[in-house]
Formats: sequence, C-alpha cells, structure tokens
Amino acid sequence: MEHPLHIYNTLTRKKENFVPINPPFTGLYVCGPTVYGDPHLGHARPAITFDVLFRYLDFLGYKVRYVRNITDVGHLENDADEGEDKIQKKARLEQLEPMEIVQYYTDRYHTFMDMLNVRKPSIEPRASGHIIEQQEMVEKIIKNGFAYEVDGSVYFDVEAFSKKHNYGKLSGRVLDDLMANTRDLDGQGEKRNPFDFALWKKASPSHIMRWPSKWGHGFPGWHLECSVMSTKYLGDTFDIHGGGMDLLFPHHECEIAQSVGADGKEAVKYWMHNNMITINGQKMGKSLGNFITLEELFTGNHKLLEQPYSPMTIRFFILQAQYRSTLDFSNEALKAAEKGLDKLLEINESIKQIKASQNSSVDVNAIRKDVFSCLNDDLNSASVIASLFEHSRTVNKALIGQETLNQNDINELSQLYSDVIYKILGLKNEKISKNSDSGIMSGLVDLLLKERQSAKQKKDFETSDRIRNKLTELGIEIKDTKEGAEWKLK
Ligand code: ZN
Repeated sequence: MEHPLHIYNTLTRKKENFVPINPPFTGLYVCGPTVYGDPHLGHARPAITFDVLFRYLDFLGYKVRYVRNITDVGHLENDADEGEDKIQKKARLEQLEPMEIVQYYTDRYHTFMDMLNVRKPSIEPRASGHIIEQQEMVEKIIKNGFAYEVDGSVYFDVEAFSKKHNYGKLSGRVLDDLMANTRDLDGQGEKRNPFDFALWKKASPSHIMRWPSKWGHGFPGWHLECSVMSTKYLGDTFDIHGGGMDLLFPHHECEIAQSVGADGKEAVKYWMHNNMITINGQKMGKSLGNFITLEELFTGNHKLLEQPYSPMTIRFFILQAQYRSTLDFSNEALKAAEKGLDKLLEINESIKQIKASQNSSVDVNAIRKDVFSCLNDDLNSASVIASLFEHSRTVNKALIGQETLNQNDINELSQLYSDVIYKILGLKNEKISKNSDSGIMSGLVDLLLKERQSAKQKKDFETSDRIRNKLTELGIEIKDTKEGAEWKLK
C-alpha cells in the first residue's frame, strides 16, 4: 500500500489517518439524489468526489462496499417537515404516477453519471423499499424515550435527546441557540419544539405515497432512510458517510441523533462533506436563473453557456479544486479546464515517446511519492493535478535528451500517469473513446443532435450552428437528410 491515507473528518474537524473498522473491508455510504428533476451541476460534485474516493480505496486494495441511495419518498419541500413531497408534487403537476417520476429521473441520473464516468455504487437502495425497517427504527427510538406520537405522526424529541446526548456535535450547532432562534416562529404545529423533526408523517387523504403503520397511514421522514439503509447494508458501525455540505444540517445531524436514539451508539466513523459549486460567484438556484442541468452543460443549451462542455471537461473542472473548497463555475474556468485536460492527456501520451537510455537521471520513485502524497492528503485532486503538470517538465526534458530514463523507468512513469489519470481520477480520453463502441459516445452525439433539431425548429440558428460547429471541431461529420441528421466520425 501507498502512504497512509488521511481524510478530513467533519466530526472531529481534523485530518485523520484512515483506518477501516474491519480491514480489508470498507463501508462507504453517500446520500444520493431525490429523483424529481434532472441532474444538475450540484449533483456532479458529490458524485465525482466520492467516486474518486471509491476508486482510490479500491486502488489501495480495500474491498469497498459503496452504498448510494435513491430518495423516492419523504423529501418534503422544506426542512421544517412541512410542504408537499417533492416527488408527489412533480407527479401531480405532470399527471403521472409518483413511481413513473422516480423511474424516469433515476434513469436520467444514471445516464448522466455514466457520461461523467462515475462508477456505479455496489448497492443503490430506495427509501420506498425499506419502509418496514424504517418503522422498526421509529419504534426503537420511541421505546428509548426520544420520540413521541401526535395524531398519527411521530417526531424526534430533540430536547429529551439533548439531556443525555450531544445534539449538534457534527454541525456545531448549539441547542440553546436553536431554541432562541426558533421559539418565536409560527408553524410549529403539533411538534413540542420547532427543531424536532419528523420520523413518520401522517398522510393526508390526498397523499398518494402512503403505507400502513401502527400509527396509521403515513410515510417516513426524510432523514430516517439514510440511517436505516446505511446500517442495513454496512453494519451497525461503518467507515465513511459522505455527502454535500448542504446536508450537514439538519440531515446528517439528524442521522446521528437517530442512530444514537435507536441503538445507543453512533454508526459512522468518518464524516466527509464536499463543498458547493457557485455560479459566477452566486449560489445556484432555480429562482436566480442560474440553474444549469448536466444536459444543458453537455449541449451548451443555456443562456449562461458560451459553448457546450464535454462530460470530461466538467469532471476535470471539478477535480481541479480540492473537494472541501468552494468551486466557482464560469465559462472562462470551463474553457481553461478543457485546455488543461487536453494538456494532461498529452503528457501521458508523450511519456511513451521517450527514447530509453541505459541509465536514468530521473528518480521516478520520488515522482510517485509526490503524486501519492497529494492523494493521501485528504484526496487533494487539485494538488495531484498540479503535481502531474509539474513533473511534465521532466518528461519534456527527457524528450529532448536533457534527462534520461531507462526502459523500466519509462514504463513505471507511464504506469503512474495512467493509474492516476484514468483509474483514480476517473478521467477518459474522449477523443480515443469515440473510436471504441462504448455506447456513451453515440448516446451523447444523438442527444446533441436532438437538441440541435429542436433549436432549429425554434429558429434558434445560433444554437443549432454552435452545436454543429463544436461537433465538427471534435471530428464528427454531420449530414442532414430527410429522415433527420446522420453522423459519422471523420
Ligand atoms: Zn442522506
């Protein structure tokens, strides 16, 4: 194994040496999407961050079980346990069965994750498939005195819990402050305190997504599914729980409270949180008009986009920042990422052009140590990439004979670059993969051509030309026929 991996644990606010509970097995749970809309830029960051962790742990030789859930019930429109279920609302608006919405957007999520070369998790459980287990957990929490039932709903009693345990330990929020801030708020309804959260909600007569329970017909609270499904598949205590920083409070704080409330102990050893993506310095939001889906990014069909960006450009862009730092999206940054990725892949190719010498003047092992020390420093993909670029100087010198490498060292260096770029960072050479029939490439071109067609129908010739030009630039020849556009590789 390489140098010890250190990861930043949000719980202790320190970088800690990663030691699995039960080596070589490693359990990783990450909060997946609530499937009621198209995946967007904000979905790409946690997916890619934890994909790199998954890949790296695998590379290091751990046997990783990676669980990433699909939220298909219980995620209400606001965090105060009020409002409509997000999926049910979409189903109502589109006059579809909620599970049709779930299926459609789960498929869409998978398609775009495949394009981003995000490996599939080992298990992808759905909340609606674990209702009985969720009810069992609610019963345990009630039995332990940390939850109460009111008119068919069950709430977690944060105040009672706080008398014995530390609510707020993950987020650093203090209950007294929560009390002071929420005391005067309206809409407390049937909860004893506004900061109590729903474990089970009574279904109103119009609520379609409902299950029978000992408290009447209802549905589980959103935080519950992750506590239940993570421990069901990874054991009472497991290694890593990841997610976006936006989930730290209340979602993950509530998960800890639920586990301690039910089993008397915490389930998670390391909590990891990726930071958010901003757009031109602003938070991304539907109301701000800067909400960009992955499809829009890949097709360029959005008013903020100056051109389409390929999935690997997006992946590289995200990896250019350490996962705990904020990342600001802009056309300039994406164009720079596009060029940067090309350059990185060129270095990898040029290593193979180096002519072998008898002796080496280069210490390949030192280069290897340097690159892996960046990975081991809390998966610092930004410094990994910087280090790969830094050592390209040696490659360039070797190409013109200013440095020498023997065949063995050339092979080692080539292996190092390939392992890190492809296996660990999960990048792909899109220009090569278009020659292999992976299906993703064809799907992507078809998708772009469909976008081009609809732009043409709307007489938006600027967009349709832009798509055509970009495809031509990438080496794809388009022929318009009566049956629609055809394409082939030049
Ligand atoms: Zn979750």
